[in-house]
Order: sequence, then C-alpha cells, then structure tokens
Amino acid sequence: MRVAVIGAGIVGLHVAAALRALGHEVFVLEHEARAGEHTSGRNSGVVHSGIYYTPGSLKETLCVEGNPQTYTWLERLQVPHRRCGKLVLPDAGDHAALEAFEAKVAALPIPRARRVSRSDVRALEPAVAGDDGLFVPSTGVMDAAAYVTAMRTYCRNEGVEVLLRCAVTGVDVGRLETTRGPLPFDIAVNCAGLHADDVATLAGLEGYAITPFRGDYYVLPQAGWLGRPVYHIARPGDPGLGVHLTPTTDDHVLLGPNVVEGVPRDDYRHRSPPDAFAESLRHMLPDADPALLQPAWSGNRAKLTYQGARVPDFVIRRHGAWIHTLGIESPGLTAAPAIAARVCALL
Ligand SMILES: Cc1cc2nc3c(=O)[nH]c(=O)nc-3n(C[C@H](O)[C@H](O)[C@H](O)COP(=O)(O)OP(=O)(O)OC[C@H]3O[C@@H](n4cnc5c(N)ncnc54)[C@H](O)[C@@H]3O)c2cc1C
Repeated sequence: MRVAVIGAGIVGLHVAAALRALGHEVFVLEHEARAGEHTSGRNSGVVHSGIYYTPGSLKETLCVEGNPQTYTWLERLQVPHRRCGKLVLPDAGDHAALEAFEAKVAALPIPRARRVSRSDVRALEPAVAGDDGLFVPSTGVMDAAAYVTAMRTYCRNEGVEVLLRCAVTGVDVGRLETTRGPLPFDIAVNCAGLHADDVATLAGLEGYAITPFRGDYYVLPQAGWLGRPVYHIARPGDPGLGVHLTPTTDDHVLLGPNVVEGVPRDDYRHRSPPDAFAESLRHMLPDADPALLQPAWSGNRAKLTYQGARVPDFVIRRHGAWIHTLGIESPGLTAAPAIAARVCALL
C-alpha cells in the first residue's frame, strides 16, 4: 500500500520506519525545511520511565513500552544518550506523598525503583539539596535533535521518501493536496503534532482542537553539577511536571520547562524572566550561581480537547482511510516507537 505520513517529528518518523518495515511504500510530508523543527527538537530530552501518568492510560502504557525500545533505537543509531536513572524528591518532609508515589511506581512493569536516604542522595548527586526520595533506574537523557536527524537518515536509507517543505493543504478522496503538488495515497497517517487538529479537520474528523502550552527553559552552561534528572513529585492538577533539573548530554544543566499559556502554536520566542528559574536553582542546587543562567529554548505542549472537553491522554484512532495521532504531548518522545506499533496495528 502507499502510505502518506504527515509530519517529520519523532512520531511521524517512527511511524514511517515501522510501516516501511512491513513492506509499504511510504512518503513523509513535512511542512518545514528540516525534520524536528517543532516539538521533537524542543523538549527536555528525557527518556521517561512511565511513572507519572494515569494508570492504564495510553501515556503510561506506551511510555512503559517505548522506554526500552527507545534505548534500542538510540544505540542502533548511535545517538548520544545516558541511561543514568532519575531522582524523584518530595517537598521537604512530605513523606506521605513519597509513600503514595512509591506504591504507584511499584505497581508498574518497569525496572524496580528504590527508596534512597538523604546520604544516598548526597552520594548520587553531591550538589543537590534534598532528603530521602526515589531512584528510578530506567530514566535517561538523550540528544533529541540528534535522534530526529538520525531517524530521518535511517528512514531515507530504508527507502522512505521524506519530502521537506511539503505542507498538506487539502484532502480529496485518495489524494492529498500539498504545496509540492498532489499525492495519491491508500492510507494517510496524521502525525502533525501541534497542527494535528487542523489535519484531522481537513480529513473530515471534526471536534478536536489543540491549545499550545509553552514551556521555556534556562540552562546553566557549566559541567559537573548534575549526573541525572532531578524531579519533584508532581502535585495533582499541575499542568506539567514542574520546573526540574535535567543534565544535557553535553553535561550542562537544563532548568524547566515552566508553563506559559496564551501563545500562538508556532511561537517559540523565549519570554520568561529568570527569577523563578533562579529560585529553583537556589532551592535544588544551592551552591550553583543563578547569575550564570542563560535563556535556552522553548517548546509548546499540544494540549488536546474534543468538543470543548479536555482530553488528558494520547488519541490514536482510525477514521476511514486515515489514522490520526492527536495530543501527543509528553512522553511522546519516549513513546514514539510504541505509538508507531499502535498505528501499524490499526492498519
Ligand atoms: C516542553 C516540552 C518538553 C518535553 N519533554 C519531553 C521529554 O523529556 N521526554 C519525552 O518523552 N517527551 C517530551 N515531550 C513531548 C515530546 O517532545 C512530544 O510528544 C513529541 O516530540 C511529539 O512529536 P510529534 O512528532 O508528534 O510532533 P512534532 O515534533 O511537532 O512534529 C510534527 C510535525 O508535523 C509537521 N506538520 C504540521 N502540520 C503539517 C502539515 N499540514 N503538512 C506537513 N507537515 C505538517 C510540523 O512541521 C512538525 O514537524 C516534551 C514536550 C514539550 C513541549
């Protein structure tokens, strides 16, 4: 079959690779001049373990499945990464939150997380301030931009046609209208990220809308402060995972993302003042110098609604000759190979 995949982010590229492996003729149509220009190149670069999501949700299931698959891809494509584990620390003295979180994590089919004492925290992360917490071994960090580039090269080498500067502008029966001319297809897969609602509407699937929630980052451009991500336990109702610390693969410290509402989808101008980030740095890495913080990049979370009601999970559904992936916010970078397997199953 001829399959058209719309969007060359990490999801579209994994979908393309998986469909090509099944023997299909695969085209990837990407609006921008390069792959990963949007969310896939603008995130924390964390290989998530799956511990934060609603039990039984697609986010949880596909993150747990995608975690080991992602490491396999990173190794195969020789993308810089570290399987370093992560520390999750409760707010000072909040043992009840830690115990509840530990019980949730213990129920998951992932490498076992272990409770760490204050001295274990010091041994693992000498610069981090914190009491006891949880060490989650399956978390890691990667160079996300390098991963997207390597996936694009892999797809091309496997015979996938990746068409850049090729925006899908209209849909007819069995044919896409694009800025590079028409393309007949048997099946189309919508992996358009922040614009997946627009593409769904073009394809006749009404009711979905995406609202961007921007996240800005600051970076501490100094090596040696942090070996692994350090997160707090997310509080109920938090729109994200809270401002946290993540080491980059070049050994700097990334702070963020925060949450900024009311921005256009493709607006990545960094506007957050450093104050809240400096405060987090003082709190979590008390000996680091907040004056050295520099604005880094920004990314937009694809928050999904259906007929006006918030949809808190990934949506992967078939509609006629189309398979749509909608609301692929975090942990979509980690879940991408597992999302691709779901798409293949729907085919
Ligand atoms: C701030 C932030 C931090 C995150 N951190 C993490 C993390 O640490 N770990 C993790 O697992 N996940 C993380 N995520 C989530 C992850 O980055 C996303 O889930 C993932 O990148 C989504 O990939 P995608 O391919 O669906 O979308 P995108 O990367 O946005 O790709 C969609 C592509 O579709 C193209 N497109 C759109 N419309 C059209 C059209 N009409 N025609 C042709 N092409 C079109 C776009 O140009 C774009 O390239 C984070 C997200 C954010 C916002």
